[in-house]
Amino acid sequence: MYDVIVVGAGPGGSSTAGFLAKKGFKVLLLDRAKFPRDKTCGDGISGRSVQVLSELGALEHFKDVEHQDMYGVTFSSPEGVVVPISATKSKNSPPPGFVCRRFVFDNVLFEHAKRLGAEAIEEFLVTDLIMENGYVVGVKGRHEGKEKEFRAKVVVGADGAGGITARKLGAYNDDESHQAAAVRAYYEGVEGMEDKIELHFVKESLPGYFWIFPLPNKRANVGIGMLVSEMKKKKINLVKTMEKIIQENPMFKERFKNAKRISPVKSWILPLGSKRVKNYGNGYVLVGDASSLIDPFSGEGIGNALTSGKIASEVIAKALEEGDVSEARLAEYHKRLFDLIGDELNTNYNMQRLGRFEFLLNLVIRKAQRSREIQEEISRALLNPQEHKKFVKLDFYLKVLLA
Ligand SMILES: Cc1cc2nc3c(=O)[nH]c(=O)nc-3n(C[C@H](O)[C@H](O)[C@H](O)COP(=O)(O)OP(=O)(O)OC[C@H]3O[C@@H](n4cnc5c(N)ncnc54)[C@H](O)[C@@H]3O)c2cc1C
Repeated sequence: MYDVIVVGAGPGGSSTAGFLAKKGFKVLLLDRAKFPRDKTCGDGISGRSVQVLSELGALEHFKDVEHQDMYGVTFSSPEGVVVPISATKSKNSPPPGFVCRRFVFDNVLFEHAKRLGAEAIEEFLVTDLIMENGYVVGVKGRHEGKEKEFRAKVVVGADGAGGITARKLGAYNDDESHQAAAVRAYYEGVEGMEDKIELHFVKESLPGYFWIFPLPNKRANVGIGMLVSEMKKKKINLVKTMEKIIQENPMFKERFKNAKRISPVKSWILPLGSKRVKNYGNGYVLVGDASSLIDPFSGEGIGNALTSGKIASEVIAKALEEGDVSEARLAEYHKRLFDLIGDELNTNYNMQRLGRFEFLLNLVIRKAQRSREIQEEISRALLNPQEHKKFVKLDFYLKVLLA
């Protein structure tokens, strides 16, 4: 009997398990994979992630592994204007984010959760939830060819997009207008990369973007993402579109001239936070992608997975101490999480919708290239998600027009 079973050891699961184990609870962390394992991702670790990693005591462990510090974002518009924006508080401040292959990143976090006291079983495939008297009381699964069951006072679903826990609990986001699809591959020998992640709103990638996230030794995580509903409506093949951009777009064909793809192209789904699912109930909560928390504009999900893990651990800890793991008690998790990120998700959903207008992207990026004031506005917003609100207000576009 455990206090908490966490299904899935990605950022959402390892952070929940780590925070709870740190508080002294008996935690079992299960994952179907053997670590280290890959996860299809852009590998961009934002300021929000850095904050939670630091609170968990995990940040220092990234100093010793392969990663690339990042100091801002380079944007480009459909008409080909490029503008690099710094996102540092001052000249000597630490990097606000970094790029780290998930093969490496998730393993560091998984090892950290174990060091904090979580018991872990790899290659354990959870196949079902155990329900009693309307409560989730454990999980069933397969490990080393045998059927096994474990019981706990609370089960945390952290099994990512397409996972079993959200499906079993009726919380799965299968709405194609609130899901993105993305493909990514690793390249070697990409020219012209600097200390910034690159988001390119090239014509071929709209409504979505093409990214280049720099890694050490001229390697890069390269990909493209788009809303599933739009992709299907326009019959877009993401792999072919990415190849076309790399081979034909004048902004990239020179940069990729000597580059070599060093991995297969992989695709995966992104459940977006523009759709809110019920992520708590009697004896359970859902975190990260299982709770559909990905930023609808940027596609960033690691920060919200870590944040949801942190808040879930705090609410679960209190619920366990009070001996009440009912839906009513665990509802505090949903409330606290959306009090913190709800507004931002709504705003960024509106930004995603505005981003479909090519002329707006052209206008903002063209003006940003010329105006220090607009650059500073964007830079502040990169550092502080609360400031995203201005991008969906008329005032901002008037300021842009006058800049
Ligand atoms: C192409 C692409 C690019 C992206 N780029 C970025 C980016 O640059 N930055 C960013 O912040 N976000 C990005 N995201 C989003 C990010 O990858 C996710 O939001 C993040 O991984 C969510 O973490 P998680 O812990 O909720 O789930 P996951 O990382 O998916 O982890 C889920 C874990 O559960 C395990 N699991 C699944 N089913 C079971 C089962 N039945 N039994 C046991 N274990 C199970 C899996 O093995 C896995 O380890 C991207 C996503 C995609 C698809």
